[in-house]
Amino acid sequence: MLTEKEPSRSRKARSAGQILGTNDKLDAIYERILAAVMEHRLIPGTKLVEEKLASVFHVNRTRIREVLSRLAYEGVVTTIPNRGAFVASPSVEEARHIFQARRIMEPALIRSLVDKGTDEDFQKLHAHVAEERDARERGDKRAVIRLSGEFHLLIAEMVASPPLIKLMRELSSLTCLIILLYDSPNVPACPNHEHTDIIAAMEEGNIEKAIALMIGHLDHIEATLDLSLPEDTEVDLEAIFG
Ligand SMILES: [Zn+2]
Repeated sequence: MLTEKEPSRSRKARSAGQILGTNDKLDAIYERILAAVMEHRLIPGTKLVEEKLASVFHVNRTRIREVLSRLAYEGVVTTIPNRGAFVASPSVEEARHIFQARRIMEPALIRSLVDKGTDEDFQKLHAHVAEERDARERGDKRAVIRLSGEFHLLIAEMVASPPLIKLMRELSSLTCLIILLYDSPNVPACPNHEHTDIIAAMEEGNIEKAIALMIGHLDHIEATLDLSLPEDTEVDLEAIFG
């Protein structure tokens, strides 16, 4: 029964795509807006005017709305009722609060992992850092930012209770967004060697060194961000995408 169902499901999916005829186009628009945000051609707080985007990309406003709601779901765009969609803009204060929370939380996670970590845990961390290195060598900046965040989450998942893991997940995705929005282009999110040094100190059982390295690492990420971007800047959407 299952093998008979599979083809009909995919036929249905294909025909839906054909009827809309726009899935590839929507993906392309999504990628171009996201790239513009990541490359700082669209900065936090920029208003994304539906009708202008519709005209630039030669689609109707409904399609633009679909793309914007996908970006909003991912936290890259904020929608304000009666005002429209804007590139998400965590304030400088919010960004600093997130790093402050991480500096309090992550040393405790390091301490637990030095106490309880198994060889298997450390192997997993090394494998993760190898993945980060691959993404960096491919020049896949978005994967680098995601994997950098996941390194910290992986540590939490090894030692923390569910509420702390949930908190770490939120802090980690907010940090990714802040890096997406405030990072200088071409500055790495988490330098690879810093993750490797933290693992090495934990493997040596040197808690104080591992904690000092982790705090230094978080300070370093915060310091590489440009948390002083101007707000409410007028931009010419046609010049950016036209
Ligand atoms: Zn890191």
